[in-house]
Amino acid sequence: MTRHAGDTPHIRRVARVLLIAVAFLGAVALLARFLPPAWHPRTPVDLTAAPNWLAASKLAWMRQDPEACFAAFAASAIPVTRVPDRPSTTGCETENAVRLPSVLRTIPASPTLSCPMAAAWTMFERHGLQAAARTHLGQEVAGIRHLGTQSCRNIGGGTVRSQHATANAIDIAGFILRDGREVRVAPDWPGSGRDAAFLRAVRDAACRWFRVVLSPDYDAAHRDHFHLDMGPWSSCR
Ligand SMILES: [Zn+2]
Repeated sequence: MTRHAGDTPHIRRVARVLLIAVAFLGAVALLARFLPPAWHPRTPVDLTAAPNWLAASKLAWMRQDPEACFAAFAASAIPVTRVPDRPSTTGCETENAVRLPSVLRTIPASPTLSCPMAAAWTMFERHGLQAAARTHLGQEVAGIRHLGTQSCRNIGGGTVRSQHATANAIDIAGFILRDGREVRVAPDWPGSGRDAAFLRAVRDAACRWFRVVLSPDYDAAHRDHFHLDMGPWSSCR
């Protein structure tokens, strides 16, 4: 075999790259071993604790790993009632769904939602919605009024299935406050009063936890509700 003059520097370069890669992987493994549970990528997210910046990523990942979602509810000591899977040949299957385990009064009661949606709701309800209510209305939310979660249909008369087809979305029409008063997306969204400010803060808070949030700012079809989903797209309007 003929040795070329350029071989030795080449071998040294490869060895250096390999050494750096091994050192990097070793550092990552060491770091993962000593990370606090809340910062470990593989630890189930605690849905009740104050969220860190990793929490939203863990929620988004649940779409690929539904068992991580059930593990998060178990780790958070929040009991969930699973809804039996229901296959579909038309893109309207129910898989890994639960009854929404909201601490709020839900009208209509106990809607079916995908587990990642229920997890995102739990975060939003505890770490976004109530803070918005306290800031803008001086009291907390006691209940929500929704327009449905599950509906075998396409988006806006098109050919693409809505996230509602698989119970991966919810439409929120109003918020019932502790004093019994209700703030509704219609007619309270327009204007510059405290109810409108509350609704805008709620929309913005929802954007942290859900993949898609559509408000009356998006189009006329959403003039009376917020659409929240955990589908593949990302939008906050
Ligand atoms: Zn919707």
